[in-house]
Amino acid sequence: RSFADYQVSDEIKRALAVLKYETPTEVQSKVIPLAMENQDLVVKAQTGSGKTASFGIPVCNMIEWEEKKPQALILTPTRELAVQVREDITNIGRFKRMKAVAVYGKEPFTKQKDELKQTTHVVVGTPGRVKDHIDRETLDLDQIKYLIIDEADEMLNRGFIDEVEAIIQALPSNRVTMVFSATLPKDVENLCYKYMKNPTQIEI
Ligand code: AMP
Repeated sequence: RSFADYQVSDEIKRALAVLKYETPTEVQSKVIPLAMENQDLVVKAQTGSGKTASFGIPVCNMIEWEEKKPQALILTPTRELAVQVREDITNIGRFKRMKAVAVYGKEPFTKQKDELKQTTHVVVGTPGRVKDHIDRETLDLDQIKYLIIDEADEMLNRGFIDEVEAIIQALPSNRVTMVFSATLPKDVENLCYKYMKNPTQIEI
């Protein structure tokens, strides 16, 4: 298979060509078709498997540019991963002129607040700072259609469970949820079954 077989827009296909992604990786070939049918997914996959593009491609394909509010929220355990994911999303969405904003601790809140006031299609962030923006009403969640929890096991290891739950509860219930994790310990499974709709489990 190649990316040409997927029902994604030409803008996305052009961006993948620029990135020199020709053949989907295993996680991409399993996740992309199901994600495009709006299924909730729990994906056991390691870093390096191409997992970022496996959610990045369906997210970027779904974003409506004219709707200038955030339509996807991606939670990551660390600031470094947030920055990396924001960059990957920007690259995949470049020909749609998509705007992705990263929010994380140890950077001035006001700088991020000002960014979020501009057109923002995708928000990537660490749980503490994302929750801060929600509490201070600087992040509009009304139009969120996709929630991605990346490296969920690492997120819970770092003690972010309460923030993650509070964020999930603030989101529209009519949304797609995808959880990515290298391992599936009980607390990750519990979180999934509590907040997801008949999730399909994928193992790489
Ligand atoms: P990730 O697991 O998301 O951190 O991705 C690992 C690396 O694989 C990154 O450097 C990506 O740019 C690269 N990558 C992801 N998907 C593909 C693909 N289909 N073809 C070639 N490289 C890819």
